[in-house]
This record gives sequence, structure tokens and C-alpha cells, in this order.
Amino acid sequence: MVIQRSKGLADDVYGAIFNKLMALDIAPGARITVDGLVRELEVSHTPIREALGRLEGEGLVVKTHLVGYSAAPQITRQRFDELYELRLLLEPDAARRAAQRITEAKMRRLRETAERMRTLGSSRERLSYSGFARLDADFHDQIMKIGGNELIRVTLAHLHTHFHIFRLIFHARVTEEALMEHDSLLVTISSGDEIGAERAMREHIERSRQRLLMAFE
Ligand SMILES: [Zn+2]
Repeated sequence: MVIQRSKGLADDVYGAIFNKLMALDIAPGARITVDGLVRELEVSHTPIREALGRLEGEGLVVKTHLVGYSAAPQITRQRFDELYELRLLLEPDAARRAAQRITEAKMRRLRETAERMRTLGSSRERLSYSGFARLDADFHDQIMKIGGNELIRVTLAHLHTHFHIFRLIFHARVTEEALMEHDSLLVTISSGDEIGAERAMREHIERSRQRLLMAFE
């Protein structure tokens, strides 16, 4: 009971700091003090340190010896290009294999995630944007999982690409267009259309790249 309670609190604290980072309420590169968060969120040091450790693992927070925590700087244009290049190498092929291996239960879950994104995407608030980023990461991770190569899935998941690219820019177009492109993925994967699924994923990632490129202009 106690453990569950404290886990709930830890998750809430993590979620609150995650939202602030994604919405740029904590600016990239800015110092983060544990005491400051203790005062702001009115919780003890332990869940804050835990949350910062988790966010460090996700690359959103950096811990420097003797300095402490700070928000990770925005990814560079070079890292942005590298991330998209990697996604283009791995994800269209995973989508193709997902169309081959899809089951009804997995399709249901994928549809549910897409539906939750639609609900969040219609809101213009920055807060729901971070939720959208997390669901998009989940949506893509599910397709990788269905695709069946666990090593590729884990490798990609560890990069937390969605958090880094969504943090670059806040724009309604990012969510609206992504929803339409996800629909193409749902249609092609559910009907077992391997070539269509591969193309839909490639187009989705290429368009996503174009949308987010604005951040560097
Ligand atoms: Zn997506």
C-alpha cells in the first residue's frame, strides 16, 4: 500500500517536471534546483531526485558534477538529421513487417493509442503537447514491437527521439498532420498491406522532419 502510494507520487512528480521540460517552462540549458522544485511542487526531496534521475535517463535532464541538474540543451541540427536518418532506416521496414504480423488484439491497442492522440491533438494547450509526444512515442514503439525485432526496438527506444524532436517546437500543425499520417498507417497495417505500410511510415517520418525543421530556421 505504502509502496504503491509512493509510486503514484513519484509518477506525478515525474509527470509534472516532464511537462515543464517539454513545454519549455524550464528552458533548455537552464539550471534545475532540487530545492526549487521541492518548494514549487510541495513534495519532499526524494521523489524529485527520483524524477530527475529518470529524466536524466531519458536525456531531458543533465547532471553535472558539482553543478547539479540542468535541462538538456536542445538537440543540434546535426543530431536532428542523424535521428531522422536512423528512423528512416529502421521504421519503414518495421512497419512493413508489422503489416505482415499484425493481430487483432495488437491492432486494437494501436487504434486506441491513435484515438487518444486525436483527443489530445484537438487541444491547443502546451500541456497536452507533451502528452501527445509521449503517445506518439508509444504509437511508434508499438509498431516496432509488432515488427518483431526486439533489439532494433530497444535501440530506438533508448534514444527517446520523440521527446527531443517534439521539444524543439510547439505547433498545432505538428499534431494535426501527424494524425492523418497515422491513419494511413492504421489502414495499411490492419489490411496487411506491407508495401503500403512501409511507404506510409516513410512519408510520415519525412513529413515530420519537414514540419520540425522549422525549429532551425
Ligand atoms: Zn507519429
